[in-house]
Amino acid sequence: MPQAKKAKSAVSAKNKSTKAPAKAAASTKKAAAPKAAGKSAASARRIYFFGGGKAEGNKDMKNTLGGKGANLAEMINIGIPVPPGFTVITDVCVEYYKNGRKMPAGLDAEVKKSIERMEKLTGKGFGSKTNPLLVSVRSGARASMPGMMDTILNLGLNDETVQVLAKSSGNERFAYDSYRRFIAMYGDVVMGLKPEAKDDIDPFEELLEKKKHAVGAKMDTDLTAQDLKELVADFKAAIKAKKGVSFPQDPYKQLAGAMEAVFLSWNNDRANTYRRLNNIPVEWGTAVNIQAMVFGNKGEKSATGVCFTRDPASGENFFYGEFLVNAQGEDVVAGTRTPNKIIELKAIFPKAYKQLEAIRQKLEKHYRDMQDIEFTIEDEELYMLQCRSGKRTGLASVRIAVEMVAEKLITKEEAISRVDAEALNQLLRPVFKPSSLAEAKKSGRNLAKGLPAGPGAATGQIVFFAEDAVAAAAKGKTVVLCRQETSPEDIDGMHASEGFFTAFGGMTSHAALVARQMGKVAIVGCDAVVFDYKARTMTVTTGSGKKVFKEGDWVSLDGFSGDLIEGRVETTPSEVIRVVIEKNLDPKNAPVYQQYNKLMTWADSVRKLKVRANADQPDQAEQAVAFGAQGIGLCRTEHMFFGEGKIGPMREMIVAENETERRAALAKLLPLQREDFAGIFKAMGGLPVTIRTLDPPLHEFLPHDEAGVKELAKSTGKTVAQINARIADLHESNPMLGHRGCRLGISYPEITEMQARAILEAAVDVSAKGIKVEPEIMIPLVGTKKELDAQASLVHQVAAEVFKAKGKKVKYMVGTMIEVPRAALTAESIAGTAEFFSFGTNDLTQTTFGLSRDDAGKVLTAYREQDIYPVDPFVSVDRDGVGALMKLAVEGGRAARPDIKLGICGEQGGDPSSIEFCHMIGLQYVSCSSFRLPIARLAAAQAALRHK
Ligand code: PEP
Ligand code: MG
Repeated sequence: MPQAKKAKSAVSAKNKSTKAPAKAAASTKKAAAPKAAGKSAASARRIYFFGGGKAEGNKDMKNTLGGKGANLAEMINIGIPVPPGFTVITDVCVEYYKNGRKMPAGLDAEVKKSIERMEKLTGKGFGSKTNPLLVSVRSGARASMPGMMDTILNLGLNDETVQVLAKSSGNERFAYDSYRRFIAMYGDVVMGLKPEAKDDIDPFEELLEKKKHAVGAKMDTDLTAQDLKELVADFKAAIKAKKGVSFPQDPYKQLAGAMEAVFLSWNNDRANTYRRLNNIPVEWGTAVNIQAMVFGNKGEKSATGVCFTRDPASGENFFYGEFLVNAQGEDVVAGTRTPNKIIELKAIFPKAYKQLEAIRQKLEKHYRDMQDIEFTIEDEELYMLQCRSGKRTGLASVRIAVEMVAEKLITKEEAISRVDAEALNQLLRPVFKPSSLAEAKKSGRNLAKGLPAGPGAATGQIVFFAEDAVAAAAKGKTVVLCRQETSPEDIDGMHASEGFFTAFGGMTSHAALVARQMGKVAIVGCDAVVFDYKARTMTVTTGSGKKVFKEGDWVSLDGFSGDLIEGRVETTPSEVIRVVIEKNLDPKNAPVYQQYNKLMTWADSVRKLKVRANADQPDQAEQAVAFGAQGIGLCRTEHMFFGEGKIGPMREMIVAENETERRAALAKLLPLQREDFAGIFKAMGGLPVTIRTLDPPLHEFLPHDEAGVKELAKSTGKTVAQINARIADLHESNPMLGHRGCRLGISYPEITEMQARAILEAAVDVSAKGIKVEPEIMIPLVGTKKELDAQASLVHQVAAEVFKAKGKKVKYMVGTMIEVPRAALTAESIAGTAEFFSFGTNDLTQTTFGLSRDDAGKVLTAYREQDIYPVDPFVSVDRDGVGALMKLAVEGGRAARPDIKLGICGEQGGDPSSIEFCHMIGLQYVSCSSFRLPIARLAAAQAALRHK
């Protein structure tokens, strides 16, 4: 691959990988994004109340109430038990930031009124010395951002109310357990008492561990009321010592601090990272939900849990979840205790289990989607605290959508719209090679088993800290992030890793949720592993004793079985690849393929856009057809010159000193190119094939080292000095804006002539064998009609010669790429000659932004972080700028030639949001790499449904 081309694809590959998990979000978010929060009629009101069997909001008010608030309201509306509370709307957060981080005037009074409504409903009083009302304060944006923002539980407790709670509940331990949790959360989130260094443990966690050690407690639940009382004093003292202020005792003060902290957490580092990865606009803001507490930590008759109405990893239709007895919600999600399976709830809390199972059914029917639910059981009474559409793997997403159609819960169109197109990637990703896996097991490299939270196969070097994962990945290493547990802070590192592994946590822990959402391989809750972050080691207790691993050691994760394996394990293609590409698996034995295929068939029946592939070789063309390509949208002929026996004559052509020498070298290339084109035409069996004439600057083909120069001198009979002089002669300051594209064919028409001859001779030969051919000859980087005229007339001249010599004609077209703004601006004139346009949005983006595609990486990091570019324009078409030019070109092209063929072949052609845009402006096809074709097929169908 030529160098600059390589660099280009490295940029786009990098962009792709940093973007991958966020892609579909981009298109759906965009579609769902309302105007910036303004003063609409609905936003004049700041608070929506729910409770007592009635709610002021509903599920369709996510923009105002955030996802959590809208669904809490909805659950109440459909008769599900939810503790009362109220939602402070997202616009208030926007106002808070607009006001320079100040709460709007009058909000206090409105909050107070709502608290009073809660007091009436619960019969409790906020700060009451007889029957205190405690509340939770939670964030809730329009799009779910699991764990990224802050939450505070048990608010309203203070030195007095804790005693009342102890008395009224008859459970002193419970009261002080709640209080110590509240102080720790509040101390961290509102007062900022956090770990200072990456290998420090949380200051509250440290005090907790110290206390456990001192009294010989193994679990948190082993601590007595007295221990917890002392812990409360220790926590408060730590806050006073480190922060210089006392822990606030006034509940309204506590509430104001907590609400502000939730708003501030909208802007914390991890939320910003998450938003960037998922294209969630910063302008949205978060709502705050204030809700009466129910206690899962009240004793052995209380519990808390998180469930999915179907398996979020595989999509299987069974009730999937976890709970902990005598615990609060955060314990399950934080992954600090490994929870029980939901089925075990049946034996311990039969009534609540039955009710929960009924709610599971009700919610699925009502929302017609898999739900992620949080519940608490207080003294055997069940309460729902959250429901939302559950995050799922790509695998699960396809299965759930297809099965819900069979269950008549949703329509085929809904199934198409439900699956995140980008997530289809997961169905194409490799799995471990069975023989290599068996060998690893046989040789005792199977270390331990955890929970299979994210399916797939990952092999990489161990890192223990998220920031190290980011640094290692930046150096091109593949890493596996291994941690005791992960927290939302680790999101960047998780993204940079091949997969992650945790000792704590269950299938609904943070690590597991993130894995499923990012499509990463993950194993969680593997308690055979103990970490020593300071020593940077992890010790695994295996069947044959303890083994210590250091940073940089290789491990493999089997995300299907949950096995942690020592060293590397070879991978093998997925089920879909085996059926579609390798054709060595019978579809009957491939359930995942069957689901995939069903979805693809449905998508194909609704999409308007055709899909083509960018492919340069006959084998790639075959692959493209197998993935459903309806043509080749871009065959980059320069890629062919690196094939066997071609680079020699190519170099000879470049160092030629006159036309005769050049033609002699080109004559050697002609049969080689002709053979490749014939192979492609055969593989495509009559489908259109767009072949582009030479595009990159010539110096890219020359050797860059001394040995290569010597060899070229020898093979061409020139001196080393002559070759070096030619290399120096070809040097350009800005090669991507220099002597490339059609400019080459204009300087050296014999190159275009040779390529046109090779294409047309191949076309005639293949057609003579009874195979239909549809060649489309494409001239790159055209900016004026005259450039295209010159190249087109050469092609037509060669065609006439070839047809005459062969005594046979084929139909062919000549068209151009639209890659520079001038081409778009003068499209009407260019279309006088061009029979088709293909948008080369890689170059069109580079030339529109004036930003080098080879160097964009350095700029884009800061631009994305500061939200200057909402998305990377090299990944997703910049609709306002590049898109405007595309529209102009479409209009101009059609004005001159109503039946002009229009497509896209830049990298963006495989990006769901760009595909939607191509649909909107009326292109006929998108072209992308073969492996993105399934994504393109689905995204094109989604676009067609969205813009009927
Ligand atoms: C483009 O510029 O979008 C294109 C497809 O051409 P290349 O990437 O080869 O420059
Ligand atoms: Mg280009």
